[in-house]
Amino acid sequence: MYQLIALPSFTDNYIWLLEHTPTATCLVVDPGTAEPVKAWLSQHPKVQLTNILITHHHPDHIGGISELKQLTGAQVYGPSSEKIPARDIALHGGEQLTPLHGLTCQVLAVPGHTLGHIAYLISDGAQAPWLFCGDSLFSGGCGRLFEGTPEQMHHSLTQLSALPDNTLVCCAHEYTASNLRFAAAVEPDNPALAQRIVEVQRLRAANLPTLPSTIALERATNPFLRSDSAQIRKKIDEWQASKNQPKSSNHNAFALLRQWKNEF
Ligand SMILES: [Zn+2]
Repeated sequence: MYQLIALPSFTDNYIWLLEHTPTATCLVVDPGTAEPVKAWLSQHPKVQLTNILITHHHPDHIGGISELKQLTGAQVYGPSSEKIPARDIALHGGEQLTPLHGLTCQVLAVPGHTLGHIAYLISDGAQAPWLFCGDSLFSGGCGRLFEGTPEQMHHSLTQLSALPDNTLVCCAHEYTASNLRFAAAVEPDNPALAQRIVEVQRLRAANLPTLPSTIALERATNPFLRSDSAQIRKKIDEWQASKNQPKSSNHNAFALLRQWKNEF
């Protein structure tokens, strides 16, 4: 009844489109440009765009809003503390929405990449839920800390990590292959990670998206959800020793991991 479509945009972004086939309505998430959405809508002339969901204020997530709003009259949802063009409904996390027929949507505050960053957990009560998480949790990684602290991001990711195993992780960039290169350096003996790298290579060779991922897969392979792992701790210590930095305490393993990834 619901169909999820990844519309590639720019060099490595995805604009997610969720369609409810019986009512011929759809929503899009983070249209950084209007073109791919307009192209899809012109190929599906009966389908109406009713909702535009925005996770954060970066230009590659908001650039297409005004044009799509003007064209379709769709309602625009976005974080209350960030500048979002044509926003109708301001959100700060904790709200419950009903974006399309039969769907419930939980808004989650996930600061770190930006301070107002939110994610949308959407469910029809039957299929696996969809998590639209922008640039907070990535497949195999996480967003850079442009505005928030490592503690904020760690808290946000811990919250996402606790979602049901089958939750479909619909993040906004095709970064999986490069993220997994870092993950392999950080946790070389993780068998689930080794298996995933093979699968991701297969998908990319066929020019297919590596998304959506699942929360279970992220929990098993994403180093930013695994900073408690003994091997990751040991590798962080080795990395610090190679830079002549003092050894880490448990408290800042996540922050060090993010710093290591920035320099990787
Ligand atoms: Zn961003």
